[in-house]
This record gives sequence, structure tokens and C-alpha cells, in this order.
Amino acid sequence: TKKNPNEPEFLQAVLEVAETVIPFIEKNKKYQNKMLLERMVESDRIIMFRVAWIDDKGETQVNRGYRIQMNSAIGPYKGGLRFHPSVNLSILKFLAFEQTFKNSLTTLPMGGGKGGADFDPKGKSDNEVMRFCQSFMTELSKHIGANTDVPAGDIGVGGREVGFMFGQYKRLRNEFTGVLTGKGISFGGSLIRPEATGYGAVYFAQSMLGTKGDSFAGKTVVVSGSGNVAQYATEKATQLGGKVVTLSDSAGYIYDADGIDAEKLAHVMVIKNELRGRISDYVTKYPNAKYVAGARPWEVKGDIALPCATQNELNEAEAKALVANGCICVAEGANMPTTPEAVLVFQNAKILFAPGKASNAGGVATSGLEMSQNSLRLNWTAEEVDEKLKGIMLAIHASCVEYGADSTGYVDYVKGANIAGFVKVADAMLAQGVV
Ligand code: NDP
Repeated sequence: TKKNPNEPEFLQAVLEVAETVIPFIEKNKKYQNKMLLERMVESDRIIMFRVAWIDDKGETQVNRGYRIQMNSAIGPYKGGLRFHPSVNLSILKFLAFEQTFKNSLTTLPMGGGKGGADFDPKGKSDNEVMRFCQSFMTELSKHIGANTDVPAGDIGVGGREVGFMFGQYKRLRNEFTGVLTGKGISFGGSLIRPEATGYGAVYFAQSMLGTKGDSFAGKTVVVSGSGNVAQYATEKATQLGGKVVTLSDSAGYIYDADGIDAEKLAHVMVIKNELRGRISDYVTKYPNAKYVAGARPWEVKGDIALPCATQNELNEAEAKALVANGCICVAEGANMPTTPEAVLVFQNAKILFAPGKASNAGGVATSGLEMSQNSLRLNWTAEEVDEKLKGIMLAIHASCVEYGADSTGYVDYVKGANIAGFVKVADAMLAQGVV
């Protein structure tokens, strides 16, 4: 706390890992030296910089840009860029810390990083977004590279922003390399990357349900968010026979008791991705659905909950409401959406609960597959990538069970994910000496 004042999200993420990893370290002598955990919570490097750009009125705007290069023990730094007015050092350090464990879990050689800016893309024109991205990349390009640090998208950074940043990197460096993932298909992107985080979260939930002989078929699913992760989680949950009844954004949620089927989801994608509108616009076309302003969807009855919006969006009271309503499975699509108190509610009720670093790792895993394709100068088919994604999610699930199951067979996925993620990074750090 003394070293990291005013960083509540970072401290929350570290505490959650420490609570499960310290007892493991105490039982395993090998990990008790060289200040391993102390070194893991210290970023390799933090870069903070001014991003000045000119808006459509000709006026100068200033934002703050960041890149947290957290840990490169097992591979180049890898992690997304977030553009949102709430972005600050604490949030990006928490995300970079989580990313280190998540990337380790994917079985691929990627270190942990995260970055972004307190820029708000809402209401900005395409030209403004492009000028911002170009200014942001002008500085960031000095610190990244295909073998050093490979950023991707996150909240507020999708295909459009990645494209603008890739264009600027190429212009500055005069090299065409896989320096970013989430690229367009015509310039080195991977099929299934846009779908991967949402699909992966549902594959993970399906594996958890499988341990109980259950599945998505016939289940009611409550989803939060309406961005990239929420959209594809909805698509896959529906394909597997679930009925998704909610979506949300920071202003409220929609409840559609008939289910958000493929046609309705296609309309959500137009609203959010093309018109860049609000989820409340959904009820204009589907008046049977209701829009609830200023609330989150956890008051809605469902068997499975998939929080896919942002950190700390599901609190203790909301967790109790979900359990009381018969929820049996929660898989985080977002990063740390469930508060620590809410996690305890799920664990005490012994329902299936997966932390984002396990259940949303499909996105970065597929980014890893994009890096492989870029290095090979090959493109795999959608089926090939989807198969690999499924295989990785199954492997992550198996690691969580290996380290998280107790003698009664109950799986603590938080403990399992933290320890499995820790072991690989710790082994690499020990082998590389005190650095
Ligand atoms: P998008 O920008 O596509 O969508 C974000 C969604 O979350 C929007 O519906 C947005 O609503 C909502 N949201 C953002 N901030 C808040 C807030 N403060 N309160 C309530 N709602 C909010 O982002 P993604 O779908 O890519 O990311 C969602 C989550 O998934 C994040 O936690 C991200 O870190 C995580 N994640 C994403 C991965 C990816 O591959 N994209 C990979 C792994 C994790 P609004 O429009 O009102 O802001």
C-alpha cells in the first residue's frame, strides 16, 4: 500500500493472487527465495507520455498515454490498449498484472503488458480517432516491436483503432511486422480473433458445466456489456442452446425475455459497431424488450451469468441476488468484473465461478495465434483457429482443476488459475537469475 498509493484496483488484483499463491509458496521450498513474488508485483517498466492531437474544430487536445511492461519472463510483453476516460495508472497496472498470469495460462510464450489512454472515443469522428491514434503511436512506437511488446485491443480499441495505429507504426518504422494483434484480415489479422474472447469464455463455462454433467442447452444466460466480448459471448451461448436475455452498457441494461437470437444480435452489432450508439436503442426495434436505465442486469433471473463489461461491475448484493435466483455458473468475460466480496458469495454457495484470467484468456491466446501466423507468413482457416482456441480453453480448464480441486472435488478456479499461472512465470524467473 505504501509503495503504490492511490492504486486500489492494482492492490485488489495483487491481494487476490497473493491470498492463493502465498500458501502454495509456503508449501514449495523452490519458490521461497529470490524475492519472487516481490519482483512479480514490480513492473519491468512503466512508460507514461503526452498525447497531443487536433480535433475537428482545429483545437488542440491533450491526453495521457501509458504502457505498462509488467513481466517478460516467458515471452514478449503482450496485452491490450484501453481507451476510456476512466483509464489511470492503477487500472492499467492491475490489468498488466492479471495479464502476466493469464498469458502464462494460455500455454503460449507471452509476457504481460497493458496500456492505453484516458481518451474517450465516444462522440469523436473517425478523423479525430485517427489523429489521436497516430499521435499515440508516434510515442508508443519507440517502446514496442514484434519481439519486444505486442499490444492489442481492449475497451474502446477495436479493429478501427488497431488499423490506424498499425498504419502509423508502419509509416514510422518502414517495416511490416506483427507489432499489433487484432489487425484487419487484409493486413495480417487472424480469423476468429474478434470472436475469441467471448467464444473462449463460453467454451470455458461449458467445460465447467461439463464437470457437473451439464451444459448451456436450455439455460437462461444473463450477460453484461454490449461490446466485443459481450457480443460474441452471446453468439456462442446461443449457438450452444442457451437463451441470452440481457445486454448492457454504462447507462443501463436491456431485458429481452424471448432471448437475443442471431437476428437480434446482428442488430446489436449494427447499433454498437457501426452506428456507435447505445444499447437503449435496442428497444426501438424490439419493443417487447425493456430498457432499465441506471441499473445492471444482475437482478434478472438466470442460470448462467457472464459479466463482460468492466472491472468491479458485480458486487456482493448483486452476487447474492444471482445465487438466490438460482444461478449455477459465473464465468468472467471482462477483467475482474466481480468484487472480492462477490467472489466469496459464489464460492461459499459452491457454484461454478471462473476468474477472467482463466475464462477470458481466449482473446490473448488467439492474439498469440495471430503472432504465430504473422511469423510464419501464413493464414490459418477459421476452423483451424477455432479448434486451437477450444483446445487452449480446455487446457486452461484442466490446469485450474489440477491446482484448484479440493478433496471433496470442489474446484476453486481462482486458486487454480493463480497457481498454474504463477508456476510457469516463477520457473522462468528463477532460471533467468535476479533481474
Ligand atoms: P468494448 O469497448 O467493446 O465494450 C466495453 C463494454 O463495457 C461496453 O458495453 C461499455 O459500455 C461497457 N463499459 C465500459 N466501461 C464501463 C463502465 N465503467 N461501467 C459500465 N460499463 C462499462 O470492450 P471489450 O468488449 O473488448 O472489453 C470488455 C471487457 O473484457 C473489459 O474488461 C476488457 O478488459 C475485457 N477483455 C477484453 C478482451 C478483448 O479481446 N477485447 C480480452 C480479454 C478481456 P459503454 O459503451 O457505455 O462504455
